[in-house]
Amino acid sequence: MTIFVTNAGLQILARVTWRRAAVLLTTEVARNVEGTPLVRVVHSPTVSLPIHKVVAIKHNAYRPFSGKTMDSYASNATILRRDQWICAYCDGPADTVDHIVPVSQGGPSTFGNQVAACKSCNGFKANRTPRQAGMALRHAPFVYDPWAADQKEVWEMFMLHPKTA
Ligand SMILES: [Zn+2]
Repeated sequence: MTIFVTNAGLQILARVTWRRAAVLLTTEVARNVEGTPLVRVVHSPTVSLPIHKVVAIKHNAYRPFSGKTMDSYASNATILRRDQWICAYCDGPADTVDHIVPVSQGGPSTFGNQVAACKSCNGFKANRTPRQAGMALRHAPFVYDPWAADQKEVWEMFMLHPKTA
């Protein structure tokens, strides 16, 4: 059973196993977020440890990918994952990343200037813009947040199960 780890502001930081969550709770690094579903209760001879679906760590931590814009740096791995390894020019399988405005023309390695591309399209386009190469992008680049779905789930749990005390 996956447990979500958030910071104090409920920004998601990681997904962990309940065993890992138990360690975070017993060492008092994290606390249960009251109101989120109770996943299990771990019993030892002396204590019972409830583990909720969301645990929040007590010290400040920033969520990865939060606050990214089209101008933020993005790695090749992130761009390929965002575009699901599909070429933005031909819809074929992609394992390279293309700078829409090429590096040689000052194009940055950002979310807004990179797309997944197959070797063939990337090689043909070379050091040209799509317009210069007569190529069309099949979709616009966008900012990708791999934690967006988990973050939405955490918020929905929190909103749908308000603290009852
Ligand atoms: Zn292609």
